[in-house]
Amino acid sequence: MDDQQIDEAFDFGAMAQVTTVEADRYCEGCGYNLRTQIVRRDARTQVLLCRCPECGRYHSVSDSASVGRVWLSRVSTLALALWIAVLISVFSSWAFGLFGISAVTLDELGRPWWMGGPQSSNIGLYAYTHTRQYWEWVGPMAAASVGLALVGGIILVIVFPHWRRSWYVATAVVVPLLAGAAVWAMVASDQPRPGWNRPSMGTWAYPYVYGHTLLQMLGGLIGVGMGRQLARLTIRILLPPRLRPPLAFLWVADGLPPPSSK
Ligand SMILES: [Zn+2]
Repeated sequence: MDDQQIDEAFDFGAMAQVTTVEADRYCEGCGYNLRTQIVRRDARTQVLLCRCPECGRYHSVSDSASVGRVWLSRVSTLALALWIAVLISVFSSWAFGLFGISAVTLDELGRPWWMGGPQSSNIGLYAYTHTRQYWEWVGPMAAASVGLALVGGIILVIVFPHWRRSWYVATAVVVPLLAGAAVWAMVASDQPRPGWNRPSMGTWAYPYVYGHTLLQMLGGLIGVGMGRQLARLTIRILLPPRLRPPLAFLWVADGLPPPSSK
């Protein structure tokens, strides 16, 4: 068999497709992330091959076709446990942060507030909706609710690129609901007692509880809707092409081709 015959016999496109590359694997020629590329079996040698669409180089992928083996070799059980611990703390601090924004808003609004002048008041700031001080408190706190929920939504779609869209939406709705339920319970448990000279929170605070919860849902939904697009834009602005391939999952998760490394 001379070289000419070998060339004719080696027709990559005609080989049987076995699977696609399912893990991050980089072209040795140009650094392109080969994830999602077609894997074919060479019938004569039984070697699994894929081809870099950027530079045309062939790669043997027998050792990387399965995600499980990559994970086993890459991440020890300890690192996995650590990752789960990080996820749990990120989730709980997100929920706790959303709860905190609502709770702090109510705490400040309920504080006895003085209009100035000789007459002091035991009524909370909530009663003075016409004042600049009221809006300077309520406005930024509303923005904080949207902002923190938005950041949480963005983190969600980046950290869990494999989730279905409905899971993102459910999480962006349920986490603010849980935080809101906790604040609601706090308000409901504020019952008037003998000797109190202030109205119970139940008489004025519920609209703020619902308002914050709705704003947080809105922020979270915007975050999960735009998160990966924002991440891709940020990467394009901040990272030179050769550093982008490890972040290809942000493209693949939305069915886009991995970013070029050139
Ligand atoms: Zn290449």
